[in-house]
Amino acid sequence: MFGPSGPNLECIQTDEDPPVKPWTIRDSLDLYHVLDWGSGFFAISDAGDIEVRPKTDDARSIDLLELVENLGRRGVHTPLLIRFNDILDSRVRGLSQCFREAIQEIDYRGTYRGVYPIKVNQQRHVVEELIRFGAPEKLGLEAGSKPELLIALALLDTPGALIICNGYKDRAYVETALLAQRLGRTPIIVVDRFHEIDLILKTSRELGIRPHLGIRARLSSKGAGRWVESTGDRSKFGLSSMEIVAAVDRLAAEDMLDCVELMHFHIGSQITAARAHKDALSEASRIFVGLHEMGAEPSLIDVGGGLGVDYDGSRTNFPSSKNYSMQEYANDVVSFIQEACDAAKIAHPDIVTESGRALTAHHSVLVFDILGVNEILNDSQPGKVTDDDPKVLRDLAEVWSDTTIEDVQESYHNAVLLKEEAATMFSLGYLDLRGKARVEHMFAKCCEKILELLRELPDVPEDLADFEAGLADTYYGNFSVFQSAPDHWAVKQLFPVMPIHRLDEQPTRRGVFADLTCDSDGKIDQFINPREAKSLIELHSWTGAPYYIGVFLVGAYQEILGDLHNLFGDTNAVHVTLDDEGGYTLDHIVRGDAVEDVLAYVQYDRRPLIEKVRQIIESALRNDNISLEESARLLERYEQGLKGYTYLSGQV
Ligand SMILES: *Cc1c(COP(=O)(O)O)cnc(C)c1O
Repeated sequence: MFGPSGPNLECIQTDEDPPVKPWTIRDSLDLYHVLDWGSGFFAISDAGDIEVRPKTDDARSIDLLELVENLGRRGVHTPLLIRFNDILDSRVRGLSQCFREAIQEIDYRGTYRGVYPIKVNQQRHVVEELIRFGAPEKLGLEAGSKPELLIALALLDTPGALIICNGYKDRAYVETALLAQRLGRTPIIVVDRFHEIDLILKTSRELGIRPHLGIRARLSSKGAGRWVESTGDRSKFGLSSMEIVAAVDRLAAEDMLDCVELMHFHIGSQITAARAHKDALSEASRIFVGLHEMGAEPSLIDVGGGLGVDYDGSRTNFPSSKNYSMQEYANDVVSFIQEACDAAKIAHPDIVTESGRALTAHHSVLVFDILGVNEILNDSQPGKVTDDDPKVLRDLAEVWSDTTIEDVQESYHNAVLLKEEAATMFSLGYLDLRGKARVEHMFAKCCEKILELLRELPDVPEDLADFEAGLADTYYGNFSVFQSAPDHWAVKQLFPVMPIHRLDEQPTRRGVFADLTCDSDGKIDQFINPREAKSLIELHSWTGAPYYIGVFLVGAYQEILGDLHNLFGDTNAVHVTLDDEGGYTLDHIVRGDAVEDVLAYVQYDRRPLIEKVRQIIESALRNDNISLEESARLLERYEQGLKGYTYLSGQV
């Protein structure tokens, strides 16, 4: 049920228990696999708190708990999204560094030119910071739609940086991209679907501006991982070989073949297997050579995104992992292209990547507080069972007292049977509500004992494998999965989730998280684990004192895919940068949505709402149903409620 090296986490201490080794920070590091998924950015301090080390080449760190408490004192409460700018910086430089090394290693003669795909995280501060950190590397932007192109035009001011224009295009999109050349920008219009050529040629002729063109190839080789659909012959993106040939002929006829400056492909996001990248690269390099053989001479090859993030730290081709390093990826890209070009005796092109997930995922952490816990198993003792009690209760009490490791499976079956029998008796009127409650209490005691014995067994019988998950505590979290980790709900993506403090203390409970929405899908009940996701996570017992949970690696895609289920809005967000005095600066504090903001999305405006409620209160006053003081207080609550955060305040 737990890994062979898993620490001993017995939550029920009996008198005979041997003295346990004191819990150490090392145990927490192993239990939550922090060093496996943390990429050097996350560790645990001596005080038992999560420690963020945003610069990989610099030992300075930020204590996450201290930061959360500090923000709380400023009135910025959980749930809270914390963005570490230095992590963005480290990732941007890390990726360029990998390509620089790969290029030097094999004496490749083109250069590396990254672009950041805006769709991965469009938040202005994030894009601005990426542009700033990427400027020395000439990091450009990729737009997948007209709105994203408008962002790129306004923000990107790095000389020589590329703007790659992907996605479906209309006339306005193409015109904007062409005219941007007059501003000294370098937009490359990528032909994503064959018929876009007509639109681009016509618009370019009318404006008298020759386009920088790219051609997106549809590869036959499949991606790997959750988004394999982005590739293959039936993908909705890119030109087939037939269409590429037709496009070249068409452009040659218009005397515009020299406009083709780039060849593009993208095999999907979060590619889990190195093999899928290699297959795609070998096919794409051949298409690149083919273009040259037909007289088009693109000097750029754009290998798209897909560079994965190891969310579960397992380094496997599991959906939430990847079995290759950033350096291995860069080596593959450079060497496959070099080989194909050398064989065909054509110049090495500059290499463009559109990695988004790999640049942004690490930099954001969501922190939420626990509002309460529903414990199925607890320390309470069932009342004494006497001969006067119903037989089911007496039988259950016997299971509780007599079960041994030899008959644990049989005892489990008996206990379940007895509980069902009690339910039937209750329905038929032979057992009252108090009686039923006592049976349930006794059943919980039996489960606790069975669980304790199961944990001693080397092999857990198949029908008991899920037993433990059914007994997990539910920790109620002050957050919405739909808003803050939508991929966990939508595609069962795993994120590292763990307490951010008390890590010098043994977690004695096992639980899952339920969010604030009234939706049974609003929960986190799948957790990272080598080999196989696990359905519960080790947690500390709930004392009523603040208990903070971190959801890590949420910097890519989660914010914009998040929705307003139950009208829980954007969380507070802060941007943190290390400063030179050994502390940190809060660059931006972005307040989360107020209730009135999310109500406005669904067309409820503040003033008319208040006016309506005021009228209802007036009429209640006239009928003497409410006192003046009560009416004032209700109206005040109502108005404050509209201004307030959509999440709960921890105050009692
Ligand atoms: C989404 C997308 C990307 C980003 O992919 P990541 O896996 O996040 O790096 C890059 N290019 C295109 C064309 C995309 O659609």
